[in-house]
Amino acid sequence: MTVELDSIKAEVLRRNPGEAEFHQAVDEVFASLAPVLKKHAKFEAAAILERLCEPERQIIFRVPWVDDTGQVRINRGFRVEFNSALGPFKGGLRFHPSVNLGIVKFLGFEQIFKNALTGMPIGGGKGGSDFDPRGRSEGEVMRFCQSFMTELYRHLGEYTDVPAGDMGVGTREIGYLFGQYKRITNRYESGVLTGKGMGWGGSLVRPEATGFGTVLFANEMLATRNQSLDGQRVLVSGSGNVAMYAIEKAQALGATVLTCSDSSGYVVDERGIDTELLKQIKETERGRVSEYAERRGAVFVDSGSVWDVPATVALPCATQNELDEAAAKRLVESGVVAVAEGANMPTTRAAVSLFHEAGILFGPGKAANAGGVATSALEMQQNASRDAWTFDHTERRLEEIMVGIHERCAATAEEYGAPGNYVIGANIAGFLKVADAMLA
Ligand code: GLU
Repeated sequence: MTVELDSIKAEVLRRNPGEAEFHQAVDEVFASLAPVLKKHAKFEAAAILERLCEPERQIIFRVPWVDDTGQVRINRGFRVEFNSALGPFKGGLRFHPSVNLGIVKFLGFEQIFKNALTGMPIGGGKGGSDFDPRGRSEGEVMRFCQSFMTELYRHLGEYTDVPAGDMGVGTREIGYLFGQYKRITNRYESGVLTGKGMGWGGSLVRPEATGFGTVLFANEMLATRNQSLDGQRVLVSGSGNVAMYAIEKAQALGATVLTCSDSSGYVVDERGIDTELLKQIKETERGRVSEYAERRGAVFVDSGSVWDVPATVALPCATQNELDEAAAKRLVESGVVAVAEGANMPTTRAAVSLFHEAGILFGPGKAANAGGVATSALEMQQNASRDAWTFDHTERRLEEIMVGIHERCAATAEEYGAPGNYVIGANIAGFLKVADAMLA
């Protein structure tokens, strides 16, 4: 069976050369699947794994736009429609200079299993562009978004493909994208994008959902050992939407969050991060965490990483492969008891192995950060029924979903002989849901 998995993996690598992050994501899922394929011959017979690794459709397009000096600029746009067995393609758009097809495919591949785990009727996809919004004016961002949508709109629809935000894409960008979609199609199709503003079809709790969900997942893991976040010293990396609300929820549950970061460095704030000040600087002023440190009188470090700070819980909420084996070693030595991924694939495979060997609770992103996309599905529900739920109702739904994901992962890990291993639990539970639907 392992031989079979190895040969399929070799074929995926051959067919997708140079896509390191995609290979990493495939490798990580395949490493969990041997017992499933052994138990259910039907999947192999139907070549489900080969099908899963080949996106249903991949769109690459030119995005021309005019900057403030009148110069024409060109970026590349992507949308990978990976799997629609469970529902319309669903997943964010990332605007960042590092975006390429391999990155979009790794994110889209992860999204298939993540979305399946939520129990909501959504397939998996992802998109984005190598456009760098940093330092761009409002007008430039708007013209870029309009041009991006001028091509992408033909592939979207509330029953076809429903993008949302990811790095570099927030409510502002979703607004420009939605406006252009509406203008081109002459349809007020609320459910075609999620992460919309509250005044025009957005859902309460969607901004908070990924960060809140990650913390709820960490708390569920800790509860299996009769612990909780209360009193923990927590490290958060990143300072975007996910990090911000992970910090807020962790502190609401009694933890002290010591750190946050961006590409300029990281902050250590022994009093606990002041989320109001952080929001003011990062969201309103679009500033850097160094300014937070200065105004708050906290320490700013421009080398190394947040993982150098001794703590008991780690929540990587920045980007892929930000927590490597050396960082994991330091965390284990400093007495970390739980790690939950708010970002997508922030922990390298070697680092994950180290956590498992050390008996540390580890929540992989496709389970721990699924609260964001799950709440996007709740936004689609509200749009379809032309309704708007209260904050409390929506947050309760998010809590139920996160508890459900945790239970599903834990039960599946147990059933397949790896109790407490949420990586195996998430990969197998997600795979079974999608694979059964594909077979059907
Ligand atoms: N980009 C987020 C993720 O990685 C959310 C996607 C969505 O809401 O569709 O899951």
